[in-house]
Amino acid sequence: MQSLPTCKFCKRITKNFVKLQILYPSYENQPILPIGMKTSKICIVGLAPGLHGANKTGEPFNGDFSGNLLNKVLNKHKLTLKRGSHNYKSIYITNAVKCYPPNNMPTLTEIKNCQVHLIREFNDLKHLKIIIALGHIAHTAVLRAFSLKLSLYPFSHGKIYKINSSKYLLDSYHCSKININSKRLDLESLSMVFKVAREMAYIR
Ligand code: URA
Repeated sequence: MQSLPTCKFCKRITKNFVKLQILYPSYENQPILPIGMKTSKICIVGLAPGLHGANKTGEPFNGDFSGNLLNKVLNKHKLTLKRGSHNYKSIYITNAVKCYPPNNMPTLTEIKNCQVHLIREFNDLKHLKIIIALGHIAHTAVLRAFSLKLSLYPFSHGKIYKINSSKYLLDSYHCSKININSKRLDLESLSMVFKVAREMAYIR
C-alpha cells in the first residue's frame, strides 16, 4: 500500500503538483494528512483539500471559506480539535481525496485510488460511531469504504444511515461557498447535522 505522506499514485494530481509548486512554492502541494485524535467518536469526511485552504495550510478544512464555516459550527457544538495551541479532542477530520485535485474535482479513478487511505483511517478509529459525510462524493466514498451498495443509501442532507453494528453515517451538503451562496445550505441546517452527531456520539 502507498504510504499516504509520499503517495504519488494519481498521475494527473502529481503532475499538477509540479505546476503548483512553481505557482505557489510555499503551499504543501502534496497529500494533506487528516487531523484529530484516533480516539475520536466522530469523523468528518470532506471532498478534497482546497487549493488555498488545506493545500496551503497543510490541515483539512483550514484557511478557506469551507474551513471557516466548518470551524464555526464545530465551535458552536464544542466539537473542536487541536489546532495551534488549542487542545480539543472529539473530532477527526479527513477528506475522501487527500490531495488537491485540478479544478477541485477528483476523477472517479482518483477517488477510488484514495479509498485505501480512508479505509485504513476508519480501521484505526477504534471508537468511531458517527461519520459525517460532507457532500455526495464523501458520502459515496464512505459507502465504498464499508463495501455498501450505493443504490441502497441515496445521499440526502440530514439523513442518518446505520452502516454496521456500531457506526452511523450522517449526510450533509458540503459547507462550500457555492452551496451557501446558492442557498442549498445555510448555517442552521449545517449546524443541525452536527448537533445530531454530537447527541448520537454521547459527547458531554
Ligand atoms: N477543505 C478540505 O480540506 N476539504 C474540503 O472538502 C473542502 C475544503
